[in-house]
Amino acid sequence: MCKDFYTDNLPESRDITRCHNMKMNLFHDDEQFMARALDLARQAATLGEVPVGALVVREGVVIGEGFNRPIGAHDPTAHAEIMALRAAAAIEANYRLPGCTLYVTLEPCAMCAGAILHSRVARVVYGARDPKTGANGSVIDLFAEPRLNHHAQIEGGVLADDCGRLLSSFFSARRQRTAIA
Ligand SMILES: [Zn+2]
Repeated sequence: MCKDFYTDNLPESRDITRCHNMKMNLFHDDEQFMARALDLARQAATLGEVPVGALVVREGVVIGEGFNRPIGAHDPTAHAEIMALRAAAAIEANYRLPGCTLYVTLEPCAMCAGAILHSRVARVVYGARDPKTGANGSVIDLFAEPRLNHHAQIEGGVLADDCGRLLSSFFSARRQRTAIA
């Protein structure tokens, strides 16, 4: 299990203890990066956009960030993942992002899953599941589709409660405003 998880990161001389320690560190980093994605999601909320945030990390360094802004940008493709991938690709001057990890507060939709696979991002970490449009098993699972020629490693549930609560409070407030108006 450890070997699969860290194929790109572990030295040849790895041992179980070292692997365990690195796993702990990585998990800790996952939460820190997701906390930053949550900050980005809150920025979206202040602009009246559905609060989803994303960032791309290479070797522990954030190289691209974005948040959901389809309404303000008049752009149906302006999901957080797309914005972060575009920013990272511009920084890298490369349309592909091998070895990178994408963090996003919500399970990617089919459009973003497609962009993720095209970008060759190595790993995706998300927070809350999306029962309406989630493309990692909630509605469909494009990440497990064997007919697609590239796959990113993906895992959900990192700070899932915080990510989900931000979304539900946003929609609750919006419903209240609609009821009053
Ligand atoms: Zn999306």
